[in-house]
Amino acid sequence: MTTSTALFSEARTAKRATLDEFAGKRLLASFGISVPESRVVQDAGAAAAACGDLKPPLVLKILSPDLPHKSDAGGVIVGLRGADEAGDAVRAMMRRPAIENARIDGFLLEEMAPAGVEVVVGGLRDPQFGPLVMVGLGGVFVEVLADVAFRICPITRLDAEEMLDELKGAALLRGARGRKPVSRAAIVDVLLKVGGERGLLMTHGEDIAEADINPLIVSEHGAVAVDARFVLTQPSISTDKV
Ligand code: ADP
Ligand code: MG
Repeated sequence: MTTSTALFSEARTAKRATLDEFAGKRLLASFGISVPESRVVQDAGAAAAACGDLKPPLVLKILSPDLPHKSDAGGVIVGLRGADEAGDAVRAMMRRPAIENARIDGFLLEEMAPAGVEVVVGGLRDPQFGPLVMVGLGGVFVEVLADVAFRICPITRLDAEEMLDELKGAALLRGARGRKPVSRAAIVDVLLKVGGERGLLMTHGEDIAEADINPLIVSEHGAVAVDARFVLTQPSISTDKV
């Protein structure tokens, strides 16, 4: 069984409705998409110890099936510079009311991506057309302005380029307000790895109801998927073959 297939069957066996962030990022990595180097830890001591393997600054995140929006629950702390800060961050997080009352699978400690523009890459399954791939600019662009582009999978390189051209905020990628332009090629590459012929959605479309890389942080030199959420299809949908 391939790594990616194993990730879905593990989640099914555990009767989960989603892949957790760590599994989601392993899935992305198995398709060649860059994700931060990370460790899953269960307590403050383990977080401090894991810092030895990772290059600061680091981010600590809560892993909980009950908290899909980690920041809203106080479950993301960025900019940790070492073992003491990582241990303190775990202790502080465990005291947050929303976290105290949730089911906790552990904590994800990961390296920070180089600064850049936040882009969203997503996927969903249309009952008629099958997998669709989506791209948008992060933050208010997606949430408030709904500045997004969709295509039916599989997409070609030209489709991916056109999707980026369609975004009203595309100027941001070219380096608005005196900033350096970010790597358009890196975004196109991720779109193809997600929505292309041999991409993630074409390969695992029967298992994926929704995919969300939010954000993909794109710098001058590349793109890193720093958050990953996959909602699994209901079993009845994946067995509807004749
Ligand atoms: P949420 O569940 O709230 O969406 P995220 O994992 O997306 O949590 O983290 C919230 C924000 O923190 C991201 O939008 C990003 O700005 C920042 N962030 C998270 N992880 C990283 C990382 N590894 N490197 C840099 N920034 C990060
Ligand atoms: Mg996110």
